[in-house]
Amino acid sequence: MKNVFFLIGLLPLLLFAQHSSYERDKNIIEGFFREALIQKTAYEDLRYLCKKIGHRLSGSVGADKAVKWTSQRLKEHGADTVWLQEVMVPNWKRGNKEIAKIVNGKNLTICALGNSVPTPFEGITAEVIEVFRIEQLDSLGREKIQGKIVFFNRPMDPTFINTFRAYGGCVDQRSSGASEASKYGALGVLVRSMTLSLDNYPHTGSVNYQSFSKPIPAAAISTLDANYLSEQLKKNPKLQVFWKQECKMLPDTLSHNVIAEIKGAEFPEEIILVGGHLDSWDKGEGAHDDGAGCVQAMEVIYLFKKLGIKPKRTIRCVLFMNEENGMKGALKYEEEATKNKEKHIACIESDRGGFTPKGFQIEGGYSNEEIIRKWYKLLEPYDLYKIVEGYGGLDISPFRKHKDVLLMGLEPDSQRYFDYHHADTDVFEAIHPRELELGAASLATLVYLLSEYGTNLR
Ligand SMILES: [Zn+2]
Repeated sequence: MKNVFFLIGLLPLLLFAQHSSYERDKNIIEGFFREALIQKTAYEDLRYLCKKIGHRLSGSVGADKAVKWTSQRLKEHGADTVWLQEVMVPNWKRGNKEIAKIVNGKNLTICALGNSVPTPFEGITAEVIEVFRIEQLDSLGREKIQGKIVFFNRPMDPTFINTFRAYGGCVDQRSSGASEASKYGALGVLVRSMTLSLDNYPHTGSVNYQSFSKPIPAAAISTLDANYLSEQLKKNPKLQVFWKQECKMLPDTLSHNVIAEIKGAEFPEEIILVGGHLDSWDKGEGAHDDGAGCVQAMEVIYLFKKLGIKPKRTIRCVLFMNEENGMKGALKYEEEATKNKEKHIACIESDRGGFTPKGFQIEGGYSNEEIIRKWYKLLEPYDLYKIVEGYGGLDISPFRKHKDVLLMGLEPDSQRYFDYHHADTDVFEAIHPRELELGAASLATLVYLLSEYGTNLR
């Protein structure tokens, strides 16, 4: 009986404690958004990364400069420690601008796919066979394919609301098309650019050569010229295309992941990772992909330090190298973390463009309800309560094998992402400062809540 009275006596105190932690959390989150939207630190960092450094393909001068500058900048943002992690990366060079034209006809706008082999020095002049699915190659057979250029022309499906699903439904042409066509004696593949917009920009991306066939050259063709070529082939199936590209793969070269940390005050051994990838394609300025994710993750460090918030758990910003054409940085990071017995409790990635955040995707059987129930009132004012089961991101995916690590990805609006993805259009001007900053503050919010309460969401 006495115990019951004791507990009843304690109740107002418990309610007060809960209320005051809610008020404190609410104020801190308000602070993140206010500071991000007024100071625009991520946006100004992105301006430097895009305009002073530019694109950052693994092994390039730009990638090197970006490693040095971001590590310096993270020190200025107040990180307790900043260090570089060595990693060997592929070193692919595009070389002189690619040429393609219909023989006795118009030029075609193309660009080599990343990691592609070159055409022979004198170029390829050959007939073209249009296909829409890899499975079609089998029925066409060597007879119809040998000695020709295979033209993969399946467009992204415009009816998917999430454009990443449309991308996922098409990208096999780009990644596997060359190896599959090579089996039947094709000389090379031209692949319709992975974009929903009709324009004259080719969109690169990596081609993956399989050991079962000889590597043949691969290039992306702009969507407008893909349509044009398709029409011309209907009129004249015997037309020929001339195509020359000089790209080459050099030996692997030394590069770095950039890592910055704020040590946790109560559970320093528990790490919450937030990151993006520092490398980009050698097209545009790598603004949406993934300069945006990098400067947002950097701003998380800035916001904690600027607002004087001491996280309970360790916060680690990681800028991964080589996501685009090898993923070597991500693999190296997880390998080292495992070797050093580091305890990552959560990994959060931002690599879907710097657009208005809509929420987060979460892996591993957690559901939105668990988080919503816990933090709904805090997240709702920022439209951040949509947390759906899905995909964290490529750079944190090596952590999937550790069953107790929570993997999450920032999910921005996806409608315009593939207008810019891997193309000359992916420049600083394509980023809206408020959209980018809302993403940075959203990441800081999630990192803060996980660092306060851990990942035991159930
Ligand atoms: Zn990316």
